[in-house]
Amino acid sequence: MKVLVATDKPFAKVAVDGIRNEIEAAGYELALLEKYGEKAKLLEAVKDADAIIIRSDVIDAEVLDAAKQLKIVVRAGAGYDNVDLEAATAHNVCVMNTPGQNSNAVAELAFGLMVMAVRNMYNGTSGSELKGKKLGIHAYGNVGRNVARIAKGFGMDIYAYDAFCPKDVIEADGVKAVASAEELYSTCNIVSLHIPATAETKNSINHALVGRMPKGGLLVNTARKEVINEAELIQLMEERADLKYMTDIMPAANEEFASKFPGRYFSTPKKMGAQTAEANINAGIAAAKQIVGFLKDGCEKFRVNKK
Ligand code: NAD
Repeated sequence: MKVLVATDKPFAKVAVDGIRNEIEAAGYELALLEKYGEKAKLLEAVKDADAIIIRSDVIDAEVLDAAKQLKIVVRAGAGYDNVDLEAATAHNVCVMNTPGQNSNAVAELAFGLMVMAVRNMYNGTSGSELKGKKLGIHAYGNVGRNVARIAKGFGMDIYAYDAFCPKDVIEADGVKAVASAEELYSTCNIVSLHIPATAETKNSINHALVGRMPKGGLLVNTARKEVINEAELIQLMEERADLKYMTDIMPAANEEFASKFPGRYFSTPKKMGAQTAEANINAGIAAAKQIVGFLKDGCEKFRVNKK
């Protein structure tokens, strides 16, 4: 059995070593395709792969067609919108993610962006503190929970909205559960986004929603760029000079945001939330273990596509 690690943006070496240990201990072979650039190289490499570990790499119908022996794809990370789930099901390929493995890394980055914004991008002027501010966590999943844990240390007043997580689960963490996204934005000084990119959430962070935020509102996005209605957020930030937007996922309209809102807008140069040695190792090794569990015992925990 051949397990291919196909990562245009490679794992740290320690993570690759850990993945190799798991795969070889199970008696399988590991193949590595890093920084491949062109899709043609990926199409060639997947031909004889039984399993693939990816990061943000795109697995579409063309890749699945080329991978005749493929049984499983594991996205080392949380978001799996880079994999065509329906095509995978049609090809009888199991798709998994590795939930929770990079959550702390992303949550820490969200606070890095928050502190930078409230300290006026470190421009030498007097800023404000997170302590006592109302923080809204938009989606209380693995990252959202880590944000809540860290926010307690900052002494923030914490609110959360999640469309699927029960209220009592949120409140058991000492976090106030609100009934709607509208209520969250109306209530909170800072909103940190942790929703996945789905048909329902795409473009949902719009003028009407963010426009509810109190004066001086700060929106922090470590989720996905697709959830933001960029044109409407630009319009809103033009209307309201008090709003700030900090993101880990560079918008398509990055240059427009940067030129129109200096001091109120910042984007990391590329998605960096999960870019820590710890998250790399955790997610990569979890992916390798899930592949071994699937190939040896048929374990489908963390499967995200239909059978
Ligand atoms: P998760 O699956 O653990 O949690 C997602 C939460 O969103 C769930 O609790 C779910 O109930 C909730 N949700 C789904 N649809 C919703 C909706 N319409 N309204 C409100 N809540 C909704 O995922 P996670 O690990 O917490 O990650 C969250 C997102 O962060 C991922 O989907 C991914 O897009 C993004 N992410 C980014 C980075 C990065 O590098 N910046 C890294 C990891 C994850």
